[in-house]
Amino acid sequence: MPFSSLQLHPDLARAVKDLGYTQPTPIQLQSIPPALEGRDILACAATGSGKTAAFVLPILQRLRELPRGTTRVLVLAPTRELASQVEEQVRLLGKHTRVSSAAIFGGVGMGPQEAAFRRGVDIIVATPGRLLDHLKAPYASLANIEILVLDEADRMLDMGFMPDIKRILAMLPGKRQTLFFSATMPAPIMELTRKLLHDPATIAVERKQAPAKGIDQAVWPVAAELKSALLVALLKEGVLKQALVFTRTKHRANRLAEVLAKAEVSSTRIHGNRSQAQRTDALEGFKKGRYEVLVATDIAARGIDVEALDHVVNFDVPAMAEDYIHRVGRTGRADETGEAYTFVSPDEESDLRTIERAIGARLPRRTLPGFDYAARTTQRFEVPIAERIAEIRKRKAEERARAKEKLERRNLRAAEEAGRPAAGRGNGARRAAIAGSQGNSGQRASAPTSRPGAGDGGSSNGAGRSSGGTGESGRRRGSSGGGGRGGSSAAGRDRPSGAGRPTGNPYAD
Ligand code: AMP
Repeated sequence: MPFSSLQLHPDLARAVKDLGYTQPTPIQLQSIPPALEGRDILACAATGSGKTAAFVLPILQRLRELPRGTTRVLVLAPTRELASQVEEQVRLLGKHTRVSSAAIFGGVGMGPQEAAFRRGVDIIVATPGRLLDHLKAPYASLANIEILVLDEADRMLDMGFMPDIKRILAMLPGKRQTLFFSATMPAPIMELTRKLLHDPATIAVERKQAPAKGIDQAVWPVAAELKSALLVALLKEGVLKQALVFTRTKHRANRLAEVLAKAEVSSTRIHGNRSQAQRTDALEGFKKGRYEVLVATDIAARGIDVEALDHVVNFDVPAMAEDYIHRVGRTGRADETGEAYTFVSPDEESDLRTIERAIGARLPRRTLPGFDYAARTTQRFEVPIAERIAEIRKRKAEERARAKEKLERRNLRAAEEAGRPAAGRGNGARRAAIAGSQGNSGQRASAPTSRPGAGDGGSSNGAGRSSGGTGESGRRRGSSGGGGRGGSSAAGRDRPSGAGRPTGNPYAD
């Protein structure tokens, strides 16, 4: 059925054509007519189904006729990436209209977002936390919202946003249209829909828990230590050209990026420890083909819209079947076809079986001819967390020893310049320094002057917190408000260790 059957305004039909959409997807066919009538929508649709245009097009059509200058539409989305991509779709589909929009999410300055509220942009696409931050100020109000969209509601539930969402809902006018989109419908989501929606048009376009149809899924069994070599080999042999590669942890994402760099494969990373600017640059660069590989943790699994993406690689088997489906949803968008490969080490076989049960199919196994599956590697891919902490401690101890020596030398010089018997003073200072050194290493975790230990906690990226190895200093840092998670993780990953060490360190120059 063509788009013309949906009776969209010519300005919107033109934008749809500009984007190269020839036919509406099933979710668009079923959502757009009732949404245009002003009905509530309850849609069970996975990412990749064309769900964004399914709510953006009717919204744009309804807003076209209304006066500008009032924020009438609020779209809530779980992640920054999804919020910015939904807002991008609003701009693309609304480019022949005068409808305005803004994306509101954390990790970037509040100023331009405040300006958008003050201007009264027509559509705000927001993540819940940052929206609530703005709503504390008098310039932000949801009093005139006429249409609310909840996008990827199940993801917002998973991410613990439900209390935030309830607070936002309490600030919205009761009389409004609500468009509710979720890939899955667990019980708390159903409960929420019962409260929120009035006589909704209910749409389920895809079988629950199934990746999009056009995707060729395959499993590559390989020893854990050879996964990076297999990825490099698949890239070098042209089996993979451009790929979004998911790893289980940020550490593994970083390690993989290092291995790829050594193998001269251009890559970039996107995960929770990266700043918004770094994430945007990574995504843009990948979309433009500047990088062969985008390494990502689960944070990127939803909402990244990379058109015509050829390959998704699960470098690690996702622990949850649902995560597998969402990751694999990165490829095979709308009418595209794609390939989703999963690397499976022997100890991940049971997680894989759980996924196969959930999707109701056994995935074909593949091997790369000529690849040495029995190769022995001396390089471990992942450095165990305890070793990482030990290494950081050792480095810190060396740094402290060097700082002490320097201090001692300075004291000696000062004594000599003061014309006192240098030897006596020097020995005294040396003795004091040695005593201080021993005392300090013995009390690192508890002494107030042992703030360098906080650096350990920070650079081990929470490792200290979970292991208790770096003890109180790691915890203190972890709970220190402004320097909390974001700050410490940035320090841990993207800043050389020791940078940003708190002043007051008695040994700092
Ligand atoms: P979504 O499910 O909203 O994340 O959309 C997935 C992708 O499908 C995006 O890249 C859209 O640009 C694309 N898309 C949306 N609607 C259509 C359509 N009718 N035909 C072709 N591609 C579409």
